[in-house]
Order: sequence, then structure tokens, then C-alpha cells
Amino acid sequence: AVRLMDLSPGLEQKIRVCNSTYTVRFGVRLRGKIETFTGYRSVHSEHMEPVKGGIRYALSVHQDEVEALAALMTYKCALVETPFGGSKGGLCIDPRAWDDHELEQITRRFAYELIKRDLINPAQNVPAPDMGTGEREMAWIADQYARMNTTDINAKACVTGKPPHAGGIQGRVEATGRGVQYALREFFRHKEDVAKTGLSGGLAGKRVIVQGLGNVGYHAAKFLSEEDGCKIVAIAERDGALVDERGLNVQAVRDWMNGHDGLLAGYPDAPLSADGAAALELACDILIPAAMEGVIHLGNAARIRAPLIVEAANGPITFGADEILREKGVVIIPDMYANAGGVTVSYFEWVKNLSHIRFGRMQRRAEEARSRLLVEELERLSADKGLGWTLADDFKDRFLTGSDELALVRSGLDDTMRAAYQSMREVWHGRNDVEDLRTAAYIVAIDRVAKTYRSKGL
Ligand code: NAD
Repeated sequence: AVRLMDLSPGLEQKIRVCNSTYTVRFGVRLRGKIETFTGYRSVHSEHMEPVKGGIRYALSVHQDEVEALAALMTYKCALVETPFGGSKGGLCIDPRAWDDHELEQITRRFAYELIKRDLINPAQNVPAPDMGTGEREMAWIADQYARMNTTDINAKACVTGKPPHAGGIQGRVEATGRGVQYALREFFRHKEDVAKTGLSGGLAGKRVIVQGLGNVGYHAAKFLSEEDGCKIVAIAERDGALVDERGLNVQAVRDWMNGHDGLLAGYPDAPLSADGAAALELACDILIPAAMEGVIHLGNAARIRAPLIVEAANGPITFGADEILREKGVVIIPDMYANAGGVTVSYFEWVKNLSHIRFGRMQRRAEEARSRLLVEELERLSADKGLGWTLADDFKDRFLTGSDELALVRSGLDDTMRAAYQSMREVWHGRNDVEDLRTAAYIVAIDRVAKTYRSKGL
């Protein structure tokens, strides 16, 4: 993308590099001895502050990965116009090896190390969940920050992805999967773009394969099947893949996994094939890798049959595989855009925390009162003039219900996903030298970051 842009070499280099990475090794007394853990917090770009990015718990965490993911956050935030720079954190740990109390001790100690260096701070650096972390860890981090900053009235804004009762926001858990759904809806609104895949029509009836039925994959698959009429023809997980051409019941599969240590094995309504990765190569209309990075690589890219891939996970397609897929004419909706729903709703949560009021609290009843005025006036007119009009009950119910926080969050997310798609699309169609959405997304994002640096006099 940079090659296609007109950036000075100095600015290009400034944007490319990761500004700083802090490595911490800390000890926690557990099970009678001291265990030492290694964690990272990288800041890729501070062209806007605070910087934003999740904290990952996995044994595979290492400095290069954290820095790459921090860079992706810079571009993602720029693309969806959340006013943040890019950051990321990670802790080398297998979260399943520790019980709840131990994980709380480890998380609080890690948070302490970052907070005292302002690497967690509502104005400077705001983490969120990523692989291996969730609402619970974010609540511990928020509480740890509040304990160490007792007079900071904005303490809750130091981290997002908190549970609703601890300063979180409605719709954050579903946000990334919901964003994948809105991204696909927006893609299918543009016939010209759909034609590039060789598909036609809308989302209804499209055959979808999902890899990873975790937070992102589950919500995306659930919403696409229950609300848009997609058929989920395969679900790939750690222990294999369920395949059913008639369409799988996503909720039933997830309920099964919840009751069986996260495994698909034994699910009664569809056969399990042991090779989960092979399911990526089955025929379908839309492939959604939603588990982890690097799952489509030089070894399998040529065998991928899906004409449209939505990168719900971060970095699921390697650089080499991307080239092969582009040559085959596969359309890829890039991670930077496709999974930006999480950071978008995190932005709403941060704003809510800083404004100390839930969205909709001031307007909801006023909106309902205005709608009621209109309904009553229509009914009065109909009775006065003997027109015999009756408004359908379900119309009245929907029209008379003011927007609560969840409705407003979904509306803001939908608007964000549409606007970001349009900006990528303009570059994709508007320039002869841009052939794919990923390059278009990078051009939009890097251009915005560059403009911010330039306006700062850099
Ligand atoms: P998660 O831990 O909730 O879910 C991941 C799922 O993938 C799990 O069910 C796991 O069993 C499964 N899985 C792991 N390895 C697999 C394999 N080899 N084959 C098939 N399935 C496998 O994590 P998540 O939060 O859903 O994140 C998934 C991806 O989405 C990650 O790349 C993450 O960085 C990205 N992402 C997440 C968010 C978010 O808000 N959670 C936001 C943006 C991007």
C-alpha cells in the first residue's frame, strides 16, 4: 500500500515502526512456590491517544506477535475512525492451567506492573479482551487501576470489555461477531462487489463455513444463520469439524460445547470429521476463519474453494497464501475491517465511562412520548374522519419503543461498518492500481495516520 502512496520516506518509516515495547517478568507466589511470568505491552503508534488494543493470554505470545498485532490496531482504529492509536498486550500463559483465584492474582499483578508505568491509563493506554481473556479479566484490571488511583474519576475508562455491572456496555460481547454480520450485509448491498466473487443475490441461502466457535465465530455464525438466512454447512473446532449440508444449528452446537469441555465430539445431530483444518477446503460460498492466525497458508491456499473469505480472526491468511488466493480471484474482506466491531464498541464503552451516563438514558422516554403523540393523532384523525384506519399492533409496539443502550450500540456499529466499507470501496474501485480490499484498507488507514502526523508538524 505504501508503494502506491505518496509518503515521504521519513514519514513512511515513522508509521511503519513500533514505537515501544515494554517487557515485564514478574513473580507470583502460587501453589507454595514463586512462578515467573513474561508479559508485553507494545505501543505501535501514538498519533492519537489513548492507544488501544487487547491483552492476549496464550503460551504462543511473543514480542514479534504483540508488535504486529499493535500495528494492526493502529490501522484498524484509523479505518473505522475510532480516535485511538494502536497498542497490544500479551502474557505467556496457558489460562487453562490455573484456577480462577490464581488467574486473578496473576492478572492483578500483571496489571499492577503496567498501571504503574501508565501502560494502562484512561488517557494513555486502554486495553481490551483478546484470545484467552474476557469480561472477568477486564473487571479485575479495572478494579486494580481504581485501587491504585483512588481519586481518578475516570478510572473505569482505563479498560474496555468489562461486564455491564462493572462499567461495561450492552452489546460488547457480541460486538465483533455482530460487526462481521454488518460487514457482510454491507458487502452484499453492492451488486458490483458481489459479482467479483461470482456469487449473486443476497445473504439468504448462502453456504457458510466457520472455523472457531469462540466469541467471534459463535456470534457471527448465530446472527448470520438466525437473522440473514445463511446456512452454516460446517463448523471447524480444535477437535475436528461438524459438516451438514442442510445447515447446522449454531446455538445447539455451542450449548453442546459448553457442556463438554469445549469439544464437538459426541454432538448428536451431525457427523464429526477428525481433521478440522480440512473443513476449510470444503465447497461453500463464504468462509469465515474466526479462530487464530495463519490457518490459510502456502500448504492449503490453492485448495480453498470459497469465492469469498471474511477474516474474522486477526491474520488468518499468511502473506504467501494471500497472493495465491488473489490470483485465483478470491475476494477477501480483511481483518482490519471485518473484526473491527470489537474496537468500535470498545470506543462506545470508553465514551460512556468518560461521560458517566448510559446511552439512551436522557432521550429514550422523550423519543417514546413523541412517537406516542403521532400515533394518537393518527388514531384521532382516523376516528374523526371515519376512515377506519388501524395501526398494526406490532408496528405500534416497535414504533413506540425508544432506543435503549443496546439498540444505540448496534446502530452506531452498523453505521461505522457501513462508512468504513464505503471508504475502502472508493479506493478499491477508484484506482486502477488497487486490486484488493486489503490494499485499499491499508491505503485508507495509512493515509489517515499520515494526515494526523502531518497536522502535528511531523
Ligand atoms: P476465543 O478464544 O473466544 O475463540 C477461539 C475459538 O477458536 C475457540 O472456540 C477455540 O476452541 C477455537 N480454536 C482454537 N484453535 C483452533 C483450531 N486450530 N482450529 C479450529 N478452532 C480452533 O477467541 P475470540 O475472542 O473469538 O478470537 C478469535 C479471533 O478473533 C482471534 O484471532 C482474535 O484475535 C480475533 N479478534 C477477537 C476480537 C474479540 O472481540 N474477541 C476482536 C477482534 C479480533
